[in-house]
Amino acid sequence: MSTITGLTCRECGQEYPIAPLHVCETCFGPLEVVYDYDSIRQQLTREVIESRPRSLWRYRELLPVSGEPTVGLHSGFTPLVKADRLAAYFGVKELYVKDDSVNHPTFSYKDRVVSVAISKAMEFGFDTVSCASTGNLANSVSAHAARAGLRCFIFIPADLEQGKIIGSTIYGPRAVGIRGNYDDVNRLCSEIADKYGWAFVNINIRPYYTEGAKTYGFEIAEQLGWRLPQHVIVPTAGGTILPKVAKAFEELKKVGLIEGSVRPKIYTAQAAGCAPVIHALHKGSDLIVPVKPNTIAKSIAIGNPADGYYVLRAVRDSGGWGEAVTDAEIVEGIQILARTEGIFTEPAGGTTVAVTKKLIEQGRIPRNESIVICITGNGYKTIEAVVNDVESPFEINARLQEFDELYRSLAPTTTPALGASELH
Ligand SMILES: *Cc1c(COP(=O)(O)O)cnc(C)c1O
Ligand SMILES: [Zn+2]
Repeated sequence: MSTITGLTCRECGQEYPIAPLHVCETCFGPLEVVYDYDSIRQQLTREVIESRPRSLWRYRELLPVSGEPTVGLHSGFTPLVKADRLAAYFGVKELYVKDDSVNHPTFSYKDRVVSVAISKAMEFGFDTVSCASTGNLANSVSAHAARAGLRCFIFIPADLEQGKIIGSTIYGPRAVGIRGNYDDVNRLCSEIADKYGWAFVNINIRPYYTEGAKTYGFEIAEQLGWRLPQHVIVPTAGGTILPKVAKAFEELKKVGLIEGSVRPKIYTAQAAGCAPVIHALHKGSDLIVPVKPNTIAKSIAIGNPADGYYVLRAVRDSGGWGEAVTDAEIVEGIQILARTEGIFTEPAGGTTVAVTKKLIEQGRIPRNESIVICITGNGYKTIEAVVNDVESPFEINARLQEFDELYRSLAPTTTPALGASELH
């Protein structure tokens, strides 16, 4: 039974039917899905959720599909890792990593939004799905389209990492590399969406797509034992995931799945080479001034974020904050996470780790409160970002004597992993 009743404009409140619409005809504001929360409160208990398969569809009453979901049956329910070695390194008491670097099937948080968007596109009867992407979204749309047997066109900046490009093309979509940055790709795709009538998951299907991001927040709460953390650090690109994590926490309270008064403070993390939201936040402004991206964190390099304003609002409403970090700090963040927790993230995750470090050092995040770091993508796709910052393997012949010599030449302290002495 469907729990959604329509769409509404986030700015002027005008109502629309459930359809592939995304902007308000009256004020051009973004449209958002409306739920019947009373009915959800009746149906959806912790026991019901816990009895279901370990995928994002365990929260289906809070997602905008009407019938059975058709794709993403194994997406979501990624690990919430208790990160004790990273906590020791930062000098904090209670730290977790929500690890979407191992999301199924394409190793990023985008498998959540795409599962919902393509299930919805199939309900609407589309035969072609598409997206404007910084890389991960194209990977996920390509894979889910293949699984669903849909035609697929993806649009990406031409200069992406090899792992991100092959990570799409292997699934057999038509891939189009645009000579320009993501903002150029997105502008072109808005015109193509109008003209060709395809399901662009992050354009005309956007109100449904963005709802999928809530599952990241639902899972954090469930995996903490139906409890909310005090601090959550989220990377920001177009601004989908951060406000939806905030919305997820609110909805859990609204439908009675979470009690108590904890209001998580939410922090946005951006790369210094593309930080339009951080600039506005630090200036105390509501106006996001677009920038031209220049950073190794390509997956979050969006200079003109569609939902940047809603990121600012969610961060401020929560009492949180945000910071930007340099590419060097991002690489260091990737290494710190890998060497303390054994998790290899891409530059977006390195950004989140490095921003968390900065916020703790600033005293913005107290050391004795609970913290969740959002890791949204996988490092195996972005080898280029770290290839010059890791020790190359030694090369020897297959002779014990050569290894003996090598071993003797290595100082005992040259283990590249962060040892106990570096943890404080
Ligand atoms: C898309 C993406 C994000 C966040 O993007 P939003 O548009 O702000 O939701 C974060 N990390 C990775 C790895 C991504 O691919
Ligand atoms: Zn409106």
